[in-house]
Amino acid sequence: MARILIIEDEQDLAGLVEYNLRASGFEAETAGSGASGLAKARTHTPDLILLDLMLPDLAGSEVLRMLKSDPELRKVSVIIVSAKGQEADRIQGLELGADDYVVKPFSVRELLLRVKAVLRRVDTEETPAAMLRVGEIHLDTSRHQVRVQGEEVVLTALEFRLLRTLMERTDRVQTREVLLSDVWGIQAEIHTRTVDTHIKRLREKLGPAGDIIETVRGVGYKLSPP
Ligand code: CA
Repeated sequence: MARILIIEDEQDLAGLVEYNLRASGFEAETAGSGASGLAKARTHTPDLILLDLMLPDLAGSEVLRMLKSDPELRKVSVIIVSAKGQEADRIQGLELGADDYVVKPFSVRELLLRVKAVLRRVDTEETPAAMLRVGEIHLDTSRHQVRVQGEEVVLTALEFRLLRTLMERTDRVQTREVLLSDVWGIQAEIHTRTVDTHIKRLREKLGPAGDIIETVRGVGYKLSPP
């Protein structure tokens, strides 16, 4: 049974979501502020956090940043639930490492579907004991671990998905649009620069081994074994 933490200061809304999550068989608890949310997450690690952006104490983006910089909590899935529905807000949230973004007002049914989809994605990432290897890069999908020449490289959940997608499609050019839709889950042509930013960061983290991520000018990226 998956554990879900709702960080939301609107009590009615938090209660409604909590009630519906429980009715769908989840374990759920709520926190009315960023600080209490972080404290609850640290005491009892949830599988997924529903995170409001406008909280009375901390900005939700700050909470997200703290979650992602905490080694114990980095892998917890996060869905941002916010009234800030501008594309720029959504992109920023996803860039900070959120798995999905739901804009208020939302239907409870839609929220439940998104929760299940994110948890399913985590599940399929963890079940097959597949080891991918391209050049010096070893990616262990079951342990969510990447090693370059035996040294572990710490990646965010998003960077991991990006690298995994490229490794599974070695030698095939991936357009920015395809990466946005398959890695980020966004259908958009405008924010392709997001992909470039993450590729750059991923290359830096992989060190010299990152050179195998080729830029295909004007199109996208391709991973070619040396
Ligand atoms: Ca709020």
